[in-house]
Amino acid sequence: MTGDIHPRIASREATSHILKAFHLRASKRLGQNFLIDGAVVRGIVEAAGVVPGDRVLEIGPGIGTLTQGLAEAGADVTAVELDKKLPEVLAHTLAGYGNVRIVPGDILKVDLAELMGEAPFKVVANLPYYITTPILMELLERRLPITRLVTMVQKEVAERMTAMPGGKDYGALSVAVQYYTEPEIVLEVPPKSFLPAPEVDSVVISCRVREKPAVAAADERMFFRVVKAAFGQRRKTLANAMKGAGFQKEEIARAFEAAGLDAGRRGETLSLQEFAVLANAL
Ligand code: SAM
Repeated sequence: MTGDIHPRIASREATSHILKAFHLRASKRLGQNFLIDGAVVRGIVEAAGVVPGDRVLEIGPGIGTLTQGLAEAGADVTAVELDKKLPEVLAHTLAGYGNVRIVPGDILKVDLAELMGEAPFKVVANLPYYITTPILMELLERRLPITRLVTMVQKEVAERMTAMPGGKDYGALSVAVQYYTEPEIVLEVPPKSFLPAPEVDSVVISCRVREKPAVAAADERMFFRVVKAAFGQRRKTLANAMKGAGFQKEEIARAFEAAGLDAGRRGETLSLQEFAVLANAL
């Protein structure tokens, strides 16, 4: 299926040519590292399981590289781009694709519920690395009708997203991602697949959004308050970190006892299930 996709912008020559023709330079501040590898574009489109008519939100289309792959696969693409210089470029590079809508703006500020409506959609993006975590948290916490998120992220971020309890990578991002989705690393992408080449390794991660969260938290806000407290002061025991985050000593002791948890444990050793049991006991 994806063999039929010919993302022509995804080459060093085409990308350099487009940037030169529009007198542009990739902006470091905006996290602009353009994909120049057609196989990676096809890999992302394939991982997203895009079929004709799928609604896709793309974050940061850049000069349209991934957008073209999505459009060729028949997706109905809405692409939000912050760089004011790019809509003019996109009008050229994506001319002829009637299934792409470019929305100028900041992904953290646009009203996504209004933009995307109530029907299910997928998120596909080569994310700007300087704001990966806020974007992912916003998309997950807003409870939008997203079925799958397939994004290019820094390898180290993907390791945090998929980390299990006990290690240094396990943190609030791991808990949030795994609470809402089933994350899976699907593709390793070297720096040479981008122009300019980033200083870090990248991977494509596919997160299938769960129909119900992974664990039953009676009060989600309480669940995430405990999680944030736990990882806000990682070196402390969870009980001490919670005290530091404003929980009362007595309520902490009662909750640990009711949850059957050892008060000497560090937050980074708790599974999602244990966080939920503790939050439910509070
Ligand atoms: N999709 C293109 C590709 O794969 O070649 C470009 C990816 S580049 C890593 C990230 C893109 O996100 C850039 O085009 C950048 O201008 C855009 N961007 C940065 N911050 C943004 C924000 N807050 N909202 C929307 N787009 C943003």
